[in-house]
Amino acid sequence: MRLPAVIFLCAVFYAGCTSSKEPATEAPPETTETKPEAEAPAEAPSATPGTVVVLMGNDSMQFNTKEIRVKAGQPVTVNLVHTGKLPVESMGHNFVLLKPGVKLPAFAEKALSASATGYIPEGDEVIAHTKLVGGGESTSVTFDAPEPGTYQFLCTFPGHFGMMNGEFIVE
Ligand code: ZN
Repeated sequence: MRLPAVIFLCAVFYAGCTSSKEPATEAPPETTETKPEAEAPAEAPSATPGTVVVLMGNDSMQFNTKEIRVKAGQPVTVNLVHTGKLPVESMGHNFVLLKPGVKLPAFAEKALSASATGYIPEGDEVIAHTKLVGGGESTSVTFDAPEPGTYQFLCTFPGHFGMMNGEFIVE
C-alpha cells in the first residue's frame, strides 16, 4: 500500500500552505487568582520615604490604571511613562491631579486653550501636575499627598480626558 508520490507531495504541500493560515496558538489564560496579593510582606514603612506610583500612557490614549492609591501624610512621586511611539504633538500625555470640587469636563475644556503651558490652565484648581511627554519619554512629579479623600486625575491633552482619567485615592 504505497500512495503515489504525487499525492504525497500534494499532501505535504497542502499542509505547508495551510499551516501558515492556522490561527496562532494562544497561550492558556493565566489564572491571576493564585497570586497571594493580600499577603504583602509587612515591612517597616519607615524605610520608604514616600509612595512611588508608575503611571503609563500609551498610543491608544489610555492610562494603565483608573485608580491610584496612596497614603496620607506622605510624599508621592508619580512617574509618568509614555510607552507609545507617537510624538508629543499628536499623542501628548500628562498627569494632572485636581483639587476637590473641580469639575473634570469644565477643567479639561479650559485646558484646551492652554497649549503654551502644556495644557495646564492658569488658576488654582490643580494639586500637582507633570509636563507633557511624547512616546518613549517619561517624567515625574513629587508632591505631598493631600488629605484623605478621593481626587480625580486626568491627561489634559486635547480630547484625552474622556479616556485618560481616574481616581486618586488618599487613605
Ligand atoms: Zn494624553
